[in-house]
Amino acid sequence: TLLFAGRRYAVLGLGNNGAPVVRALAAMGASVRTWDDNAGARQALGDIPGVTVAPFESLDGLDALILSPGIPHLLPKPHPVALMAREAGIPILSDADLLFQAVRRAGSRARFVGITGTNGKSTTTALLTHMLATAGIPAVAGGNLGPASLSLPLLADNGVYVLEMSSYMLERLQDLHFTVACLLNLTPDHLDRHGDMQGYLRAKWHIFDSQRMGDLAVLGFGDAPGDSVPLMVDRLAASGDRVLTISGTSPNADLSGAGGILRDDEGVIADLAQAPALPGAHNAENAAAATVMALALGVPRADIAPALRSFAGLPHRQKPVATVAGILFIDDSKATNADSASRALSCYDRLVWIAGGVAKAGGIDDLAPLFPRIAHAMLIGQDAPALAETLAAHNVPHTLAGTMEAAVPLAFDLARQTGAGTVLLSPACASFDQYKSFEHRGRHFAERVHELAKGEG
Ligand code: ADP
Repeated sequence: TLLFAGRRYAVLGLGNNGAPVVRALAAMGASVRTWDDNAGARQALGDIPGVTVAPFESLDGLDALILSPGIPHLLPKPHPVALMAREAGIPILSDADLLFQAVRRAGSRARFVGITGTNGKSTTTALLTHMLATAGIPAVAGGNLGPASLSLPLLADNGVYVLEMSSYMLERLQDLHFTVACLLNLTPDHLDRHGDMQGYLRAKWHIFDSQRMGDLAVLGFGDAPGDSVPLMVDRLAASGDRVLTISGTSPNADLSGAGGILRDDEGVIADLAQAPALPGAHNAENAAAATVMALALGVPRADIAPALRSFAGLPHRQKPVATVAGILFIDDSKATNADSASRALSCYDRLVWIAGGVAKAGGIDDLAPLFPRIAHAMLIGQDAPALAETLAAHNVPHTLAGTMEAAVPLAFDLARQTGAGTVLLSPACASFDQYKSFEHRGRHFAERVHELAKGEG
């Protein structure tokens, strides 16, 4: 249906995000002006009725500007077109906001949940969606996870959109209203983009901007030193929000997963030992968050434990790939920073670790307490030498393997030599030096493991 008939939009950037937005807006009756400096991206779009491809000279008369995720619109370096929009008083939106507008225009009062944080967003988003669906509440996952926002189905009034919110979406919120909003955790990761922890917190805090009286705010009760959650709870509560805290480790949170047991003040809800796709304290945190939100959205208490048991998990997050000659290979390619790698490393006693790629600030220094678990490390990618330096300083045996092709068979040999039961790919680094994405890296790992298994079989 032509939900955006008569509306006029500008879309800058025709990548994975922009091109689907242009198509969806045009299909919904809007007229769209779009541009990408890359001629290939412009050609790939093709001719679409209602769409004009031309550089922007002015944005006068347009309803909104949609920028691709990588294009900055904030100080210190806003893109010239973003400045143009600001001067013309034209709102800058993300596709998540467009989805909200489309749903409301279609007359649906479906609720929206926003989930953000440094780690665990996708897992929590998928798990909450699964809990809602198993309880018969129509739910879809979107935002940063899953298909392009505007291609999600239209849900009726009882439906729930569960949106994983990245920083760029949070910085561009306009109308999108979260009945339930969750900030899972905050650890130093994208500091290069946000300057410092304060700036990073400020960006993530936007998740709560749209909340009104009676809405639910969920806050991760971090175990990081200097954690300021109690302070933040006061701040949220003062603004009239209902605030509930969650934790994977602290029993003091409103809903805690400490010791692998989910409980709140009414008692035990579930034993996570029975949830095979949710190993470790980090997943106890994700499960606690998903549970507190599911309960608030109407999932019966008795449905939580079965949903935790039947959750299949997401690819590339501590996913078992195969067991070869008694050695278990695990794909945790999604661990692109030291903090998320630490979560996986702490799940295994003795392992061969495959790591490397493009390291974040601080490298793997913070992982030192976990080094005794590492029988041997196989290092790949651009920053392998820097990682090797840290490992050498702690006397951790390691090999500069360079590539995944070399690392997988070497890791297998070393696991056999050292008696380690597990080979874990949990790179603690971004993948873009060798791969298109972390998914690409994880698939390559699995391919090499299956190849190895063939040779052994
Ligand atoms: P995100 O979407 O925020 O990147 P994911 O759910 O995709 O998070 O998990 C990414 C990786 O981060 C996982 O492989 C796991 O090792 C780690 N992780 C998952 N949940 C948490 C958490 N709550 N705290 C810290 N690390 C986590």
